[in-house]
Amino acid sequence: MSLPKKRKTDAADGGGGEGSAGEEEDGGERDPGGPGEAQESEQGARDRLYYECYSDVSVHEEMIADRVRTDAYRLGILRNWASLRGKTVLDVGAGTGILSVFCAQAGARRVYAVEASDIWQQAREVVRLNGLEDRVHVLPGPVETVELPERVDAIVSEWMGYGLLHESMLASVLHARAKWLKEGGLLLPASAELFLAPINDRTLEWRLGFWGEVKQRYGVDMSCLEGFATRCLMGHSEIVVQGLTGEEVLARPQRFAQLQLDRDDLQQELQAGVGGRFSCRCYGSAPMHGFALWFQVTFPGGDGEKPLVLSTSPFHPETHWKQALLYLDEPLQVEQDTDISGEITLSPSRDNPRHLRVLLRYKVGDQEEKTKDFRMGD
Ligand code: SAH
Repeated sequence: MSLPKKRKTDAADGGGGEGSAGEEEDGGERDPGGPGEAQESEQGARDRLYYECYSDVSVHEEMIADRVRTDAYRLGILRNWASLRGKTVLDVGAGTGILSVFCAQAGARRVYAVEASDIWQQAREVVRLNGLEDRVHVLPGPVETVELPERVDAIVSEWMGYGLLHESMLASVLHARAKWLKEGGLLLPASAELFLAPINDRTLEWRLGFWGEVKQRYGVDMSCLEGFATRCLMGHSEIVVQGLTGEEVLARPQRFAQLQLDRDDLQQELQAGVGGRFSCRCYGSAPMHGFALWFQVTFPGGDGEKPLVLSTSPFHPETHWKQALLYLDEPLQVEQDTDISGEITLSPSRDNPRHLRVLLRYKVGDQEEKTKDFRMGD
């Protein structure tokens, strides 16, 4: 996933979110379809806008150019050749078709490449160019409604959004799993884990400190703007997508959730919110700006191979997902062994279920416990 997608899902709010649809100024009756239908069409309109952002080349260029991502999928698929050889696969959200081709290269007998956006036309060309028309069938449409001629042995999908769950595409994979995957079938990837750690964001530190440096540069003291800059850059509730390095992490990362994609109750859990508690101790003295959130997904090892992990950690090479940053309202000084604890919950936003909402409760050292409610911003 990437920024163009996110802008489009935001634009989908323009027609009126659940909130505005429910607020009728004259208090009159809703349209004859009733609230259920009105809500459904609203969801339909949102989905159309969501798929539309995948019809442009840029988002696919960004994903395929992300070597960490694409190599992990390639290896994750090829290493499972023993389970894929001669088998059937469903690629949920095939995009330009690259993962479907990987599956055919691993020996799959038939791959159903399902894609809801117009990019399916490019996937069909890619399949033809690679001489795979007899084995890879590109099926246009949402996986929720597309009809396959059979159940499949495996599902492959790249469904992860910023902070793992932005876009809520995992729901479609789970829907496809329930409907089309054979009992005990293979899921690629098979699980996801979420992590969080307190951070010192060096770019932000530089930007906040900038106003104190202006006098030295131009002879005008503008240090009074530091508070204003802090309010502008930190005093909001948007999740900021930005890449950090391991040096900006202030304590041992905490794994707070694990999602096993074959679990029957996963969809309900996603609806209710996934998350958990965390508790860590700072390595040393620094201004803490907030928390970084990231994820990893794991492909099963296949025949005698080790499981393969695709990580978006700040300690690993950067991916297009970077990290999702949750800023406190202002920096807090921490020292070696300062205790940081709390609880984090990720859930679909109420006004647009494709948008990620993060509820954070945290306590830093002796400070009183605070809560902050974040959503994915522009
Ligand atoms: N598999 C491709 C694209 C991944 S991006 C790759 O790895 O490069 C996710 C894709 O899933 C997008 O093209 C999007 O349009 C598609 N998609 C999302 N939800 C879908 C659904 N419910 N049914 C079909 N396609 C979907």
